[in-house]
Amino acid sequence: MSGAIIDGKAFAESLRARVAEHVTELKSAHDITPGLAVVLVGSDPASEIYVRNKGIQTREAGMNSFEFKLPEDTSEAALLSTVRDLNADASVHGILVQFPVPKQISQQHVIETIHPDKDVDGLHPMNAGRLASGLPGLVPATPSGCVLLIKDTLRQLGEKCEGKHAVVLGRSNLVGKPVAQLLLAENCTVTIAHSKTRDLPAVCRNADILVAAVGRAEMVKKDWVRPGAVVIDVGTSRIPAPERGEGKMRLAGDVAFSEVIDVAGAITPVPGGVGPMTIACLLRNTLLAAHAQAGLPAPAI
Ligand code: NAP
Repeated sequence: MSGAIIDGKAFAESLRARVAEHVTELKSAHDITPGLAVVLVGSDPASEIYVRNKGIQTREAGMNSFEFKLPEDTSEAALLSTVRDLNADASVHGILVQFPVPKQISQQHVIETIHPDKDVDGLHPMNAGRLASGLPGLVPATPSGCVLLIKDTLRQLGEKCEGKHAVVLGRSNLVGKPVAQLLLAENCTVTIAHSKTRDLPAVCRNADILVAAVGRAEMVKKDWVRPGAVVIDVGTSRIPAPERGEGKMRLAGDVAFSEVIDVAGAITPVPGGVGPMTIACLLRNTLLAAHAQAGLPAPAI
């Protein structure tokens, strides 16, 4: 029997609708419109698409979207100065600098210059430390999206995270580590695997929940997955798709979806799984940041 396909697109739409309702409430009760500033340096085509989509969805949620396009040769000092201006701008509640940035700019310097209260990417060491310490803070969007999908999937199966063994493949600050922290906070027993892990298939076979965030197309095969496991595929790689015509490409996840679906209890597709959750959770973070900056309690969302 095939596993259920987790519909991240539908879940993200409903989350964005709930964010929009809270935005309307914040406007009418407190005259505050959450604002998200997105800064893009250079003209990477993929980044331009992400930034455009973020702008569209921010406005659709009733928030203000501020977009800054800086040239490829922007100096680090100039970018950091833009970030500091946004830190000081009361109409901006969330700041996101689209990564990667050109090589003359240190990504870490950018991360550390964004004020932690406006760090809707959740990458500032202050927010990473708060997450690791079990304190409230801004959590990276993609990991939040993964865990929302896991909890919702388990809820539909009449199950919970508590006590389950979660294996997180990948240990980046952006995805792997925060996913692991969030699952630990949900009382999972968590294993983090990476490029130096021995016998990856055996480690993965122990997982009730398997999150793959590696960036290696279709690496996770059917015999890596325990029957009934919940499989979340974060990976996005572009691979040749000759079946679509000469020179055509397609998006592939880290999981060999067509075979793993036969054993998984539930699985996210690529595209249409984790991807749509990222912007929805970014908007949620901007909403939460606007509440926190106004001294208002966080909405339950
Ligand atoms: P990353 O910074 O490159 O980290 C990749 C992780 O995978 C590292 O921890 C690395 O281990 C591990 N790894 C690499 N090759 C491996 C192998 N052969 N076996 C086991 N582990 C291996 O990537 P990332 O930023 O976390 O992103 C991961 C993937 O998610 C990418 O495809 C990215 O495009 C995608 N992504 C998608 C979204 C979305 O919205 N859908 C958002 C963010 C990222 P080491 O630490 O040992 O090097």
